[in-house]
Amino acid sequence: MSKYRDYGGRREEPAEKPYKLVPLPKEVKRDRPHGHDQFHKGMLTGEMRGQIVAASHVHVGSGVLELGERIPLPPTGGRNPDLVKAMVRSGDVPIIPGSSLKGVIRSVVEAISPSCLCKTRARFNEIPQGLGECRRKDSLCVACRIFGAMGFQGNVRISDAPLDPDTKGKHATRVETVPALYAPSPRRRAYFLHGQVAGRKFFMHGRRARGATPIEVCPEGSTFDFTLQFENLEYEELGLLLIALGLSDKYPFRLKIGGAKPSCYGTVEVRIEELKAASSSAASYLEFDEPNSDSYTGDSLREYIKAAANMTLASHKVVFEDQLIRLKEILKYPNDRECPQGLY
Ligand SMILES: [Zn+2]
Repeated sequence: MSKYRDYGGRREEPAEKPYKLVPLPKEVKRDRPHGHDQFHKGMLTGEMRGQIVAASHVHVGSGVLELGERIPLPPTGGRNPDLVKAMVRSGDVPIIPGSSLKGVIRSVVEAISPSCLCKTRARFNEIPQGLGECRRKDSLCVACRIFGAMGFQGNVRISDAPLDPDTKGKHATRVETVPALYAPSPRRRAYFLHGQVAGRKFFMHGRRARGATPIEVCPEGSTFDFTLQFENLEYEELGLLLIALGLSDKYPFRLKIGGAKPSCYGTVEVRIEELKAASSSAASYLEFDEPNSDSYTGDSLREYIKAAANMTLASHKVVFEDQLIRLKEILKYPNDRECPQGLY
């Protein structure tokens, strides 16, 4: 087969692909989830709070076009295009929706753990045996236990992350232009090996590509308020979550969120400022007292994250380290590779 692909009568040599695959796990491990209405001894309940910092421009599209004149002009002046693909907002404030954050974090958890292959457009007979979506709600993989599955709500809740105002109290966005990349086909050959799904796809970080399609972005350096609440997590599940946020010392990486990922948009860093975790005990449950909640900030938080990540890796229960190593290579930051301007 030719390496040239036909696009609209034009023949163009595709650029290097802006993504790579993390291979699928050899097996899926399933267990009983810890529901919301029961007492589970030793499980952790609490929240983490902090910031999402944009390391490249972030665009999470609302699906509507906005009048260019309603978006602030760049500091260099000039004129905005008439119509711009707008950021999603809550009221007047641009946000990263909690559902988008949950999707991104879930996809990382799935890739590094013995979790099922769900939300795929692959056909049933293309999914390797035993890796199919969890079907019984009393027997779920770790990603389905943490984030939910059919008939089970999941044990984390992630709030919408609003853009923080700047020093003038404004929620400053601006217009950038990106290449009009052709939507990658879900049937793309790279997904498949011998007729089976070969891995999970992650876009790499790199130098942003420019093009002709105007989009509204929260510029590099923008910060968003981040809150994640959790309930009835095992210690290793919390450790897995912290690793998936890119917070482990040993395997650091940055997440990628929103639109224009192939053009190197949406690189974000999650910074946790405070973590509260209470271990449920029979006494606190029966007396309806406030459980003993420990709060971690600064050095104690760094120590907590390090210990939880190391314990989780050492237990080999919920993380496949070779897959984590692969993901860390794909999502390494900084990365000075060029993003494709056109076909890839
Ligand atoms: Zn599952």
